[in-house]
Amino acid sequence: MVSWSNWSGRHSVRPEDVHFVRSEDDACGVTRDAQARGQSIRVAGSGHSHSPLVPGNGIIVDSSGLSGIKSHDPQTNRAWIWAGSKIYSLGRPLHDLGLALKNQGDIDRQALAGACATGTHGTGRQLQNLSAAVTGARIALASGELLECSATQNDKIWQASRLSLGSLGITTALEMQLCPAYKLIESGFNTEHDKLVPRIPELVAKHERFEFFWYPGTDQATVKIIDRTDVEARYPVDAEGSRVAWNYEVLPNHRPHFHTEMEYSVPAESGLNCFADIRQLLKRDFPDVVWPVEYRTVAADDVWLSMANGRGTVTISVHQDIKADETAYYQACEEIFLTYGGRPHWGKVNYLDGSQLATAHPDWQAWWAVRDEVDPDGLFLNSYLKSLQPDR
Ligand SMILES: Cc1cc2nc3c(=O)[nH]c(=O)nc-3n(C[C@H](O)[C@H](O)[C@H](O)COP(=O)(O)OP(=O)(O)OC[C@H]3O[C@@H](n4cnc5c(N)ncnc54)[C@H](O)[C@@H]3O)c2cc1C
Repeated sequence: MVSWSNWSGRHSVRPEDVHFVRSEDDACGVTRDAQARGQSIRVAGSGHSHSPLVPGNGIIVDSSGLSGIKSHDPQTNRAWIWAGSKIYSLGRPLHDLGLALKNQGDIDRQALAGACATGTHGTGRQLQNLSAAVTGARIALASGELLECSATQNDKIWQASRLSLGSLGITTALEMQLCPAYKLIESGFNTEHDKLVPRIPELVAKHERFEFFWYPGTDQATVKIIDRTDVEARYPVDAEGSRVAWNYEVLPNHRPHFHTEMEYSVPAESGLNCFADIRQLLKRDFPDVVWPVEYRTVAADDVWLSMANGRGTVTISVHQDIKADETAYYQACEEIFLTYGGRPHWGKVNYLDGSQLATAHPDWQAWWAVRDEVDPDGLFLNSYLKSLQPDR
């Protein structure tokens, strides 16, 4: 019997089959067959989501065989990239074309389609998440057809596909807006939390990428700052906190410890107050938590289900060891995040139902209308997503 589990082991399932897709023809064939047999399909990237997006009882499609750069346009700095490509596999080949992702997350283990499907982001006041860079998509639909979409072709489907939750079909390739390759210099320092807080607005404004971690149970915080540079890259690449190299060598980190994570996006102007409330909560009610709280920034975008839709954003993440029961801690944090109009990260833990998510996302109904139109039988929904589906 086959099984699938996510990175941390939090979610596991025994589906009817795990199918490795290596071509667009195969992706279309799988959807046609599943439709005929009434089997559900979920597509897996690298399984790095903490939320139950991938588990399903029918077929789990692994698209890691759809990998590499399909084509690129040096005039527009755009490239069609096969959807299952791991982000770590893209840095060097894009660099060889003189190109780079504008930003990326804390790790580079994700599949490109997996990262885009949940609004994965890095940090930077003027830097959007990965979904905002999706300018086109090729999708094997429930009907078995392959559809291409962009702002000028099947535009509503394109808009929904930029952050798809894996629910429109099997994404086979994404067209990404890239930028010229760039070098980065990273610096960091440890400081007392109380000394850092008054400096945060200035640090966010001054540096291209700023983030910090506060360690509960202590007054210590670690700041990380990353800016563009023309100085020569240093090899071997230094340890996290002092790297000078190309974008794809500096941005990803090694995060080997299995954990769960809750992350909410709040309006940028509320970030510091919200963080102060979370800190107070930890000190008062959860003094035993030692995993850090992370503070980052993301630029506004127009992606339908994006956590940064329509507003400059601060993201605040709380973590807990995979072996600990995080429920009481995360639920208390969620209450605070919601008072600030927070939106949960799609790939991380949250406890919201469909009506709460509809309140958080202005384009919730539009997204579902497109999704339901391309997949009326709900082939690409699992029980979690069905529980969020609006009644019609
Ligand atoms: C250690 C760690 C660090 C992280 N750091 C960050 C960070 O810095 N910033 C951040 O924003 N997030 C971060 N995350 C969250 C992570 O980026 C997201 O959960 C992301 O979606 C994981 O990508 P994945 O390839 O593992 O996708 P999965 O978790 O496998 O899938 C995510 C979604 O993508 C869909 N999907 C995948 N491939 C396809 C396809 N070909 N076609 C259609 N749908 C598809 C799935 O169906 C699912 O809905 C981190 C997670 C971990 C565990």
